[in-house]
Parts: sequence; C-alpha cells; structure tokens
Amino acid sequence: MSINRRELIASAAGVSALGLTGSLSFLPSAMAASVREKGFYSYKVGSDIEVISIYDGVWNKPHDEGFIVGATVEDTKAALRKGGINDENIPIEFAFTIVKTGGKTVMIDAGTGAQLAPTSGLGSKGMANAGIKPGDIDTILVSHFHPDHIFGLMAKDTNAQVFPNTEIMVGETEFKFWTASDTIEKLPERRKGLAKRVQDTFVKWDNVSQYKGGQEVAPGIHSVDTFGHTPGHTAFHLSSGNDEAMLIGDMINLPALFLANLDWQLVFDSDKDLATKARKEMVKRLVADDMTVAGYHFGFPNSGKIKKDGNNYVFVPTSA
Ligand SMILES: [Zn+2]
Repeated sequence: MSINRRELIASAAGVSALGLTGSLSFLPSAMAASVREKGFYSYKVGSDIEVISIYDGVWNKPHDEGFIVGATVEDTKAALRKGGINDENIPIEFAFTIVKTGGKTVMIDAGTGAQLAPTSGLGSKGMANAGIKPGDIDTILVSHFHPDHIFGLMAKDTNAQVFPNTEIMVGETEFKFWTASDTIEKLPERRKGLAKRVQDTFVKWDNVSQYKGGQEVAPGIHSVDTFGHTPGHTAFHLSSGNDEAMLIGDMINLPALFLANLDWQLVFDSDKDLATKARKEMVKRLVADDMTVAGYHFGFPNSGKIKKDGNNYVFVPTSA
C-alpha cells in the first residue's frame, strides 16, 4: 500500500475538518484503485489472526425510487456526492474474507461466482493474487443466503459444488428459514428462485453443518446473531489477545448511504425495523470500542473504523 498511517490520519482529520465534504474520498479512492486492481489486501488482528479481504467486483445499480425506504433518488444522489462518490448509479461492491487462524484457513462467504452483474465475479483472481488456492480452504462460514454471498459455492448451470471437500457452516436460523417446507410459497416472487436453489444445494450437500449464535465457529471467530437483513443474518467477531474486529456482512450496505443516514432502510432487508435496530446497536458498539470493522458492500478497501462526525458517522478505510 502506498498510503501510510500518517497520511490516513491526516485524511481522517480532514474529513471532520471539512464536514464530510470535498476530500473525504481523495486518499482512500487513490488507494482503492490500486487494491481493487490487485484484488486483495491483508491485515492482522492481534498476533494470531491474519485477515485477507478479497475483491469480487461491483454491481453498478441504476437508481430506482424503491431502493431506499426513507430516501428519494435525489436524496440518494446527494448522499453519494457527499461521500465523494459519483452519483450516476449506486456502486455496490462485493468483498468476501479469508481468515488464517489457529492453523486453519477459513473463508467467510463465497462471492457472486460470476453469476450476478457482469462486473462481478473477480474473487478467484483476488484469491490467486493472494496466493490462496480453493483447496487451501478448510472451512467456509456463510453469513446469510443472499445470492452475492453464496453463488460462489455452486456452479452456474448444474449447482455442482465448487468446494465439495470443504466443511461449510451455516447459521441454524438462516438455514431453517430458507429450507422450511412453506418458505417458497410465502416468499415474494423475486425470492422464490433463491429459496429453491438453496433447497437444491445446501440441503443435499453432506459437507454442511449448522452453527448457533455466539458459537466459536473457528479458532478466535464467534458468530454474532444480527437478524434483520435476513431472518438469520450473522456477523463474525474475531479476537486475538486484546485486539478484535467485526465482519458485519450486510448489516450496513454502502456507508455513504446507510451509515451516514442510520434511519434509511434497504429494500433488501427482510425485516426493516429489526435490521435498523441491529444496525444502530452495532454502530454504537463499534464506535465505543473503536473496533476494526469490515462490511461486504463497503467498497474496497472494505475494512477500517467507524468514526463519529457531528451527528453523523463516517467510515474511514484502513491503510491495510
Ligand atoms: Zn450482500
């Protein structure tokens, strides 16, 4: 990374001094371009855990009035500009995580598998650049069953397993919801196909087990029930010595939108009020503990700190 700690602190200080205008994204975006190109970056949590973030591309989502409950397209565009992001569309980036801990290599979520936007599916390139082969992965933890997190586990046309010899762990609440016998008929039309695909894969695979909330799912990694985005959405807490980090999955989508405006609700949140409550509680905890946080859709580099800025919050990416 070309950016160093001193520059990053200067950039964070600049953010508050300028009231979130202007230079917010200047240094991070220069940095972002180079890490996106490489497709990965890594950092340590304590002395025992290495975290490798893998870039899986972007979905440049066209604006539509239904995407955010509590904001119009004009509000959305203004928030993007305030965050230093081009407002032409909503750049929803994807980034999954690989954690080396206790002699194990653990993957958290699996990316889009090149089955969503044509500009996504870069995860295998990032893994190769990081020197990680699919066969190196001992365990895969799944945060929730949305396509951008699980399609990387299954082949496009056949649903064949991409990681047939790897232990896959899924949350028991999430699993129960998507595989219940009446789920498909209860779901809105746009989600029926997803439930069918979950039932055609995870249920039939014999390398899938279920974890509970608060369980140590791998050395130094605990599951954290954070329901709302989906019925069983899970975050993962990493700890080594006195150091800790939280991989929050989809609790907060793009920070410039949903962290800067904590009352805005994402149309993809299955229980919007529960998701909002969970999001606010998590932000409070992350700020109070000054904890490193990574979000699946934060934009690359997708880990850093959440800082209070007046009545708002801002995400300051790590220098990695
Ligand atoms: Zn997602």
